[in-house]
Amino acid sequence: MEFRIALVKGDGIGPEIVDSAVEVLQKVGRKYGHTFICTPYLAGGCAIDATGEPLPQETVDGCLMSDSVLLGAVGGPKWDKNPPAARPEKALLGLRKALGLYTNLRPARLYQALSGDCPLRPDIVEKGFDLMMVRELTGGIYFGDRGRREGKYGPEAYDTEAYSIMEIERIARVAFESARKRRKNLISIDKANVLETSRLWRETVHRIAAEYPDVTCTDMLVDNAAMQLVRNPAQFDVVVTTNMFGDILSDEASQITGSIGLLPSASLGDGTRGLYEPIHGSAPDIAGQNKANPIATILSVAMMLRYSFSLMEEADCIEAAVDQVLNAGWRTADLGGGAASLGTREMTEKILAEI
Ligand code: NAD
Repeated sequence: MEFRIALVKGDGIGPEIVDSAVEVLQKVGRKYGHTFICTPYLAGGCAIDATGEPLPQETVDGCLMSDSVLLGAVGGPKWDKNPPAARPEKALLGLRKALGLYTNLRPARLYQALSGDCPLRPDIVEKGFDLMMVRELTGGIYFGDRGRREGKYGPEAYDTEAYSIMEIERIARVAFESARKRRKNLISIDKANVLETSRLWRETVHRIAAEYPDVTCTDMLVDNAAMQLVRNPAQFDVVVTTNMFGDILSDEASQITGSIGLLPSASLGDGTRGLYEPIHGSAPDIAGQNKANPIATILSVAMMLRYSFSLMEEADCIEAAVDQVLNAGWRTADLGGGAASLGTREMTEKILAEI
C-alpha cells in the first residue's frame, strides 16, 4: 500500500525525533511492502522565522492532502514574547481545527522494565497499568464564551462550558470503539453532581452504551478519578472525558508512567486522517545535542499505522521493537541511562535493528 504523510517537524528537538521516527517507518515499509511518501512542512517557530506566520496556508493544504500528519513539537524561548497571534502554539490549534480533529487519544502504560521510574508505591507499581485516555478536543470550556464584566463584587472574569449532544455522542462512540479493541471496559469521567454539561454528558454516554452491550461502562466523578489514577491505575482500561478534565487527567496519567519521553498521542476526526505527535514539547534545553529520546515519536508512528492505516501487525512490530530494546536495558538519558545513556541516533539504531 502507499501512504502520503505530512511531516511537521517543528522546533527544538522536533526535527531530530521526527527524523528518527521516519527511519523506523521506512524500515517497516520495506519489511511489509508499503511505500510511505513523506513531505516536510513548516509550522511553529520555524514557520514564523521563514514566513512570518506560525501556520502557513501551504502547511494546512499539505496536511489536508496527506493521509496523515506526523508532528514533532513546536515552540521555544525565541518566540515566547511574541504576541498571541504570532505564537508557535497557534499552529497546533490551527491544525486541529483545519483537520477537524475532535478526539485525542493518549495511551499511558507502565513498562515493567522502567517500573523503577514510576513515582507510585511499589505495591501499586507491581500491578502495572495500561490505559487509554480519550479526550474531547474541540468543545467545552476551552472554546466557550469568555470575557470580563462587572459582577456582584466588582470586575470579574468568566468562562463558559457548553457541550452539544452531537459532540458527546461522537466522542463516546470513539471511546466505546476503542474499548472494544482493548479490554472492553470504559470509564466515563464527569462532574455530574455539580455541572449541567456533565449531566448531559452522562445521560448521552449511557444512551450510547446501549449500542455496545459487550463493553462495561461506568461513571466516575473527576475528583475521584484524579485520586484513583494514583491509588489504583490498574482499574482503568479506556477513559473518556471532556476537554478540560482530559487535559488535566492525561498529564497526570503520563506522569505516573515515569517518563515524558515515551508517550505518544493521536488526534483524530471523522475520517481516517489523524495527527500523531509525542506528548512532550520541543525540549529546547537539549535540542540539537543528540540527547532527545525518540521513543514517543516512534510510538506515535505505531499509532498512525494502527489508527489511520489499519496496519495492526506493522504497529505491533514497532511496539515490540521498543519493548525489546527497553527490556534489553538500553536507556536514553531521560530514562536514567546515566553515563551509559544512548543518544537519539543510537536509540533509533537499536530500535531499527529489532524491526
Ligand atoms: P518539554 O516537554 O519540552 O520539556 C520538559 C522537560 O522534559 C525538559 O527538561 C526536556 O528536556 C525534557 N524532555 C521533553 N521531551 C524529551 C525527550 N523526548 N527526551 C528527553 N527529554 C525530554 O516542556 P517545556 O519545557 O515546558 O516546553 C518547551 C517548549 O515546548 C515550550 O515552548 C512549549 O510551549 C512547547 N510545547 C510544545 C508542545 C507541542 O508542540 N505539542 C507541547 C508542550 C510544550
